[in-house]
This record gives sequence, structure tokens and C-alpha cells, in this order.
Amino acid sequence: MNLGERLSQRARSIEFSGIRRAYELAARLPNPIDLSIGQPDYDAPAPVRRAAADAILAGHNRYAMTAGLPALREKARGRLRAELDWDASVIITSGVSGGLMIALLALLDPGDEVLFADPYFVSYRQLVRMVGGRPVSVPSYPDFSFPARAVEAAITPRTRALILNSPGNPTGRVLTEAEVEAAADIARRHDLALISDEIYRDLTYDGPNPCPARYAPEHTILLRGWSKTYGVTGWRIGYLAAAGTFVDEIVRLQQYTYVCAPAMAQEAMVTALDTDVSEHRRDYSRKRDLVCELLGPAFRFVRPSGGFYVFPEAPRAFSSSEAFCAAAAQVGVLVIAGSVFSDRDTHFRISYAASDEKIRTGCARLCELAGGPATRDA
Ligand code: PMP
Repeated sequence: MNLGERLSQRARSIEFSGIRRAYELAARLPNPIDLSIGQPDYDAPAPVRRAAADAILAGHNRYAMTAGLPALREKARGRLRAELDWDASVIITSGVSGGLMIALLALLDPGDEVLFADPYFVSYRQLVRMVGGRPVSVPSYPDFSFPARAVEAAITPRTRALILNSPGNPTGRVLTEAEVEAAADIARRHDLALISDEIYRDLTYDGPNPCPARYAPEHTILLRGWSKTYGVTGWRIGYLAAAGTFVDEIVRLQQYTYVCAPAMAQEAMVTALDTDVSEHRRDYSRKRDLVCELLGPAFRFVRPSGGFYVFPEAPRAFSSSEAFCAAAAQVGVLVIAGSVFSDRDTHFRISYAASDEKIRTGCARLCELAGGPATRDA
């Protein structure tokens, strides 16, 4: 018997990530210029690493409380109160991914719908399916602003939630106050949960990232994490905040799935949160400028304001963005086709979480491809 052929309908409905395909390609190419990576190119700062080592040596190796270490929950909660004047409860989750999973498990019955803008972070579609829901994406091309009218038109009696992601993956776009206010207004009028994925919040370059908890405090489910800013994607730690009793209710979903976020990581985060990581924000802001300057002459794109991605249009000379990404791989540059994040295949994602040298070489090769002779079937 091959258990791989005994999969449930649910498991069959989940697609392999197109990002994984880029990883596999990277493994086959000698010295690729890898601009496909979804994590910072820096390691966690030394005091953060030390805090984790100290936590292990001090014996924080056992289960933590399901909702998280009280000191860390309280610290996150206090910061939310100071920033947003929002009285929310906090649960420490197994990354923002873990928070998304338990939030969707908690909100959706089979067939319930979740709205989000296209292009979208790859997990949204698959996680909604995984819990038996129906993902509904609403195009936000060409400028990736929040498509309020189309979102409202897509609401049905089965719609339960709307996901916002700012700064956005794959676009790097930061929503404006007016856009977040419009989303909050829709959530309030239609009584939807408003899930705000703010994993890149501390990497915004042109001003603050507006939070919907200001406009719809009772509807917002806020997801934040430290994976990216602190360079600890492998620690699997983040948090979910919501007002009312939502957090108390979802603790049981965490109890029977992830049990708790890693105890040593939680312990370490209590002190790590006081480490200044603004140097990385400044550095990535500079890389953002660099990548925009290098791509400017050859590509059309919305200038990103956060995260570490830019999402340009693939050159028209190529039949699709997948064809362009295949041609880029041929010249040793890994970027990800827009079809991974979208129902369209017209754009591609560059991650500038890379050394300046790789950014320069990679962008030069991409520009050359874009300006070179049409290689339609590349
Ligand atoms: N949301 C978005 C938009 C992301 O890009 C990522 C990571 N690629 C996540 C959530 C997941 O983050 P975490 O490591 O906290 O699970």
C-alpha cells in the first residue's frame, strides 16, 4: 500500500507551493543569484541569539502555557494598548502561520468564504481550503490599492472574514489610512472578521503601517510576528490579538494542534523585544531604493514601501511571467512567477533580502533579459 495514494479530499485540494519549486531549482543551479527568498538575509542580532541560548541553559525546555508565557503576552498587549489604545487579549502563536491557522479554524464552517485581494500571500488560499472554507480573491491590479468596491460586491451570506496584508507579500505595498479605514468600514457594516496580517510591520520605509484595530477594534484579528524583523523565522513564534473573548476561545484550538509556541523562543523574546532592530529597517529601506533604481529603466512596477519584495510586470516579449522566470533561471537568477500569488501570470516577485552585490548582478541580468531580443518561448 502506498499511503501517498490514500489522501483525503482535503489534502488533495492543497497545492504544492510554487515557492518550493524555486527552492528545488535553486538546489540544481550552481551559484544562483537567488532573489526568491522570503526571509531576511541577516541573522538574529547577537543579544537575541544569546537570550535564546540562555533560555535553553536555564531550563526553559518544557511545554509553555498554551496561550503563551504571561510576561510575553503582557508585553505585547501593553504595546498594543500604547500604540492603538486597544484593549486586546494576546495569544502567542506558532508564527503568524500558526495564528492564521487557528483563526481560520475558529471562524469557518465548511463552505464559508474568506475574501482577500489578489495578489495574495500564498498561504491564504491553501489554509482557507485546508479548514474547509472557500477562498475568494478580488483583483487589486494595477496599483494594488485595496479594492473596496469589488470586495463589497463579492460579499455573500457565506462571507465570514476579510484578510488584509500590509506591507504586502508579494507587492511590498503599504495600505493607506483611507484604504484601511474603508476595509474596516466594510467589516463593520457586514459584520466580518478583519484579519490583519502585519508580519512585515516593522519593515516599513515611508511612514507607519496603519492598523485596522483603530477603526474596527471589535472586528480586528491582528497577526504580528518577529520572524522577519528579528531574523528568527525558524523559531516559529508570533502572536494573535483580538478584543472580547475570541482569544480565550481559540486557546483550545492551539491546545490540540501546536500545543504552544516554542518555550525557549518565548522566553528569549521577552528580552529580545527590547533589542533595537531599526538598523535592519534602514538597511532594507536603502536596498529598496537600490532595487527600484536598478529596475527602473527596464520594468514597470509599483514602488514598494515595506517588506522586502517588489512585484514588477514581466516584459511583454515573454508569453507569460512563468516564461520570463524560466528565462531568468537560465541566466542564473531566481525570481518567482506571479501565478504563485495570483490568478494572473503577468508579474513576478523579486525579493531584495539579499546582499547588495547579488541585487546588482541579479537586476542587471533581469534588465538585460527585458531589453534583449524577444525570446517568446524561452
Ligand atoms: N504572512 C506573510 C504575508 C508572510 O510573508 C509570511 C512569511 N513568508 C507569513 C505570514 C508567515 O510568517 P511566520 O514565519 O510568522 O509564520
